Amino acid sequence: MSGVQDVREMSVAVAFDGMKSVADVVFRAGCPECRSSFELSAGALRLAIGATSKTTFYSFTCPECGLAVRKPAGERIVELLTGGGVRTLRLHSTV
Ligand SMILES: [Zn+2]
Repeated sequence: MSGVQDVREMSVAVAFDGMKSVADVVFRAGCPECRSSFELSAGALRLAIGATSKTTFYSFTCPECGLAVRKPAGERIVELLTGGGVRTLRLHSTV
């Protein structure tokens, strides 16, 4: 009964607080299940980069309901997440 998330809710706003250290970067995210919104530190997010943008997504666990949320990550989001120190997993090898 899981696995299908409503990706239309997808939105990531990144609050760069000036040019402070990476530790100060938080990512605002919302949960499609309980509809709460919250701020996540870089360590709470994972980014998986696939061969195409369609297989590139980020994931996190909702701090409110515990749902594992997975959402597609566009080019800009990938930039924001990697720039913010989010752990990145490459799903394919280009070697
Ligand atoms: Zn939730």
